[in-house]
Amino acid sequence: MRKSESNRIEQRLEQLKAVAKEAGVKLTHQRLEIFRELAGTEEHPDAEAIFRAVQRRMPTVSLDTVYRTLWKLHDLGLVTTLGPQRDGVRFDANLDPHHHYVCVGCGLVRDFESEELNGLRLPDALKKLGSIVDAHVEVRGLCAVPGGASPNRRPWHQPPTPGPQGGP
Ligand SMILES: [Zn+2]
Ligand SMILES: [Zn+2]
Repeated sequence: MRKSESNRIEQRLEQLKAVAKEAGVKLTHQRLEIFRELAGTEEHPDAEAIFRAVQRRMPTVSLDTVYRTLWKLHDLGLVTTLGPQRDGVRFDANLDPHHHYVCVGCGLVRDFESEELNGLRLPDALKKLGSIVDAHVEVRGLCAVPGGASPNRRPWHQPPTPGPQGGP
């Protein structure tokens, strides 16, 4: 693990501890491990992916605990979410202003930064729709496939397979 990466995780964990203490939320070992998993990834995982990852270290953890912990962290303002629905929603421990590159083929999500996009002026017409919590840009495309046919490639780097109908 790169040094800057472990620093980032430690920073996020320190913030978690401070916020939890303030809110009177008990940080169990399971809650800490679930947050540590999310704080250490750029994958923007969904609850099931986090569950699979922490289950290797904590075989007694349940998917239900992972869900409840993630929404608790969300209520504390420590993680944000992507996607409109509660089912299949993906979680993000990066609270700095940032934007997302989303691969329409495999679902890969990566953060990117842009001062220019951070300062994007939103149209007044939005006020008719409701209040604004935050705004970010989602760029969609097909990701570059790094590493060729390496066996270590993560599944989401595989090119999309056409559906039963052969796709559009
Ligand atoms: Zn993000
Ligand atoms: Zn992709």
